[in-house]
Amino acid sequence: MQRYSVFAVAREALRGHTGWDRAWGSPVPRDRYDVVIVGAGGHGLATAYYLGKNHGITNVAVLEKGWLGGGNTGRNTTIIRSNYLQDPSAAIYEKSRSLYETLSQDLNMNVMFSPRGVMMLAQTEHEVRGYRRTAQANSLQGVETEFIGPERVKDLCPIIETRGPRYPVLGALWQPRGGTARHDAVAWGYARACSAMGMHILQKCEVTGVRSENGHVTAVETTKGTIGCGRLGIVVAGHSGVVARMAGFRLPIESVALQALVSEPIKPCMDVVVMANTVHGYMSQSDKGEMVIGGGADGYNNYTQRGSFHHIEETVRALIETFPMISRLKMLRQWGGIVDMTGDRSPIISKTPLQGCFINCGWGTGGFKAIPGSGWAMAQLMATGESPLAAEFGLDRFRAGRFVDESVAAGVAH
Ligand SMILES: Cc1cc2nc3c(=O)[nH]c(=O)nc-3n(C[C@H](O)[C@H](O)[C@H](O)COP(=O)(O)OP(=O)(O)OC[C@H]3O[C@@H](n4cnc5c(N)ncnc54)[C@H](O)[C@@H]3O)c2cc1C
Repeated sequence: MQRYSVFAVAREALRGHTGWDRAWGSPVPRDRYDVVIVGAGGHGLATAYYLGKNHGITNVAVLEKGWLGGGNTGRNTTIIRSNYLQDPSAAIYEKSRSLYETLSQDLNMNVMFSPRGVMMLAQTEHEVRGYRRTAQANSLQGVETEFIGPERVKDLCPIIETRGPRYPVLGALWQPRGGTARHDAVAWGYARACSAMGMHILQKCEVTGVRSENGHVTAVETTKGTIGCGRLGIVVAGHSGVVARMAGFRLPIESVALQALVSEPIKPCMDVVVMANTVHGYMSQSDKGEMVIGGGADGYNNYTQRGSFHHIEETVRALIETFPMISRLKMLRQWGGIVDMTGDRSPIISKTPLQGCFINCGWGTGGFKAIPGSGWAMAQLMATGESPLAAEFGLDRFRAGRFVDESVAAGVAH
């Protein structure tokens, strides 16, 4: 793999950028691969990467019906944090956050990880109690968070109106090493590293069927022909139910649209990420200066991949209470993605009733932060049949009633 470095950039600047290699290839599909992953979002690509890096499995294809990173991975608001309540969640999200710390070096691609700090505002007494409890749980889990008072909130983010009429800020759950990263770069970095290991990333290759013999997966039917596989990973987020049906099983998943919007760029005014879950909105400032804003998910199931006007109105109206200054901002763009929600708001990383077929989904509104950790766990599960990080996230928990309830940490918050 051609190394990206300051020297390479300087050299290419001098010769008119004529010497860059393609970051990943466009190969002709082979008849068969040891592993086929469906979905070239962050989770699918990270799974492929750690299959190669950690387990030496490189005869791998990642099949994508559109373009890589064009699903939720390229549509999210990039918040990274690990301040969840339950132990299994804290373990996988903190693994992920810690992998983000060195991901740029690992992939030799600047993913612009910016651990600027994330605060989740407490605007009711109920939230104060909830976040104090989470801070206690996090200290036992080894996740660095603290509950801070309104003065510290104002210090860290002067543009917040802490004395709002309906919902004054009573404090916040603060994670100093939470932050953001560049979403496309995460997908591109993993794709480039996978390609360098000899893996095939096949774009515009939609999976339309799954074949099996004696209860074991054998191949997938695609728009580029039938492709044989020893093991199959389904990692398609909002379309998990559709592909699972092809493989002959059902999932406890609902697909809904989640949307976000950005403002015109303005001068730096906010160098932390703020989530206001009571009023249903969150905001950070991108490196370009745009205010990146998100809210809650649509209240009905759909596959539309675009937003609805009433949600934008609600989100902006809610945020204006906490950030009055945004009332004068012009909004530039708005978009939506289809997120995959489980009842307990925790993911599924699991074997399935079809032998050799594994599923990774259910990250809902908050899976960008989990990409490295989820890929790590899914690769381990697919390579060895077990993964301590994924142990509590099996499909069987829905039958056994062993839920990992994260509805407080992940219901609105991303
Ligand atoms: C507006 C919005 C804001 C968000 N904000 C945050 C945030 O701030 N922080 C956070 O942590 N998370 C956030 N998320 C959630 C996060 O984006 C997702 O959980 C995460 O990106 C899921 O990644 P993925 O790889 O599983 O799915 P995706 O990136 O959606 O990838 C799945 C891929 O599968 C492909 N596919 C589907 N069906 C087929 C098929 N039949 N054949 C081949 N390919 C197929 C799709 O085209 C897609 O590219 C947000 C999501 C949205 C929509």
